[in-house]
Amino acid sequence: METIQITRAGSLKAKPDPKTLGFGKIFTDHMFLLDYTAGQGWHDPRIIPYAPLALDPSAMVFHYAQEVFEGLKAYRRPDGGVQLFRPGENARRMIRSCERMCIPPVPEEMFVQAVKTLVGVEKDWVPSEPGTSLYIRPFIIATEPALGVHASPRYLFIIICSPVGAYYDTGINPVKIYVENEDVRAVKGGTGYTKCGGNYAASIRAGERAEEKGFAQVLWLDGVERKYIEEVGSMNVLFKIDGTVVTPALTGSVLPGITRRSCLELLNSWNVPVEERLISAQELFDAADSGRLEEAWGSGTAAVISPIGELDWAGRRAVVNGGQTGPLTHKLYDTLTGIQWGTLPDTFNWTVEIP
Ligand SMILES: *Cc1c(COP(=O)(O)O)cnc(C)c1O
Repeated sequence: METIQITRAGSLKAKPDPKTLGFGKIFTDHMFLLDYTAGQGWHDPRIIPYAPLALDPSAMVFHYAQEVFEGLKAYRRPDGGVQLFRPGENARRMIRSCERMCIPPVPEEMFVQAVKTLVGVEKDWVPSEPGTSLYIRPFIIATEPALGVHASPRYLFIIICSPVGAYYDTGINPVKIYVENEDVRAVKGGTGYTKCGGNYAASIRAGERAEEKGFAQVLWLDGVERKYIEEVGSMNVLFKIDGTVVTPALTGSVLPGITRRSCLELLNSWNVPVEERLISAQELFDAADSGRLEEAWGSGTAAVISPIGELDWAGRRAVVNGGQTGPLTHKLYDTLTGIQWGTLPDTFNWTVEIP
């Protein structure tokens, strides 16, 4: 890649109080930009002061949502160093999202180099309070000013960063999940396996309704039969049934989470039996009724592991492990967060240090 041109901000923002960070509300001093022009490819990588963009109101992204994004974090280690968790996986997933959305892919090395360079510039923004991190949001938008429905000949790849608070202020607490029977998130042949904004736009209604009813998240069923479990909110979902960990197979409508994959790799290394397969809501609730549903949790970059204490589906209720976090859920949480924040040895070579 061309050398990344760095223009530093004239004055730096005051760093926020690490205790009141929340999620994605505060942004750092700089952002990364990279242009794409048909015939020329990706060009002009640069880091400039964080500021609003000027885009034509006819820019294609506003009308037809030709957009993809990623999400990863930079973590402050006890020795003061800063590290990323499996950034190459985010780069490769974004390439697969791009292919589906007819967006020219950003090569893996370019993606990782851009993230490393920007986080290097913003190193002081990586907080050190327990559980906090710097959330990194790479995304690509179609910028061509035109209303015809076709692939844009111009794009912008942007990376912004936001210091985020500890997901669990009061300890890791199980959540209540509503099994959504009406709206669906994705169908086979659609865009469910990509990280694109459109998937989220379509998911908001069910999320709002579930929240009104007092649930933390929606559990999505498959878009055709509304029978098989797919994901929970913006997380993958895993269940321990009769000693075996069962998680929905990546059938095309499920997002291939990096946390999900890391859970499966850890479970394999611990010799815990794992099955990636179709699992129906019926099977899950029957397992709960007969006492065989031992644990349930969601997995994703934001929360890492989110234990599920209760599931409600069409008038049926399943309480998991007495509403308490199960031991395997806890072990996964402790191990993943230990590797991410550098308090446990990284025997899988998952972390990448920021020089
Ligand atoms: C990002 C995302 C996940 C989790 O992926 P991670 O790589 O583990 O963060 C799960 N489901 C959806 C719909 C997502 O967008």
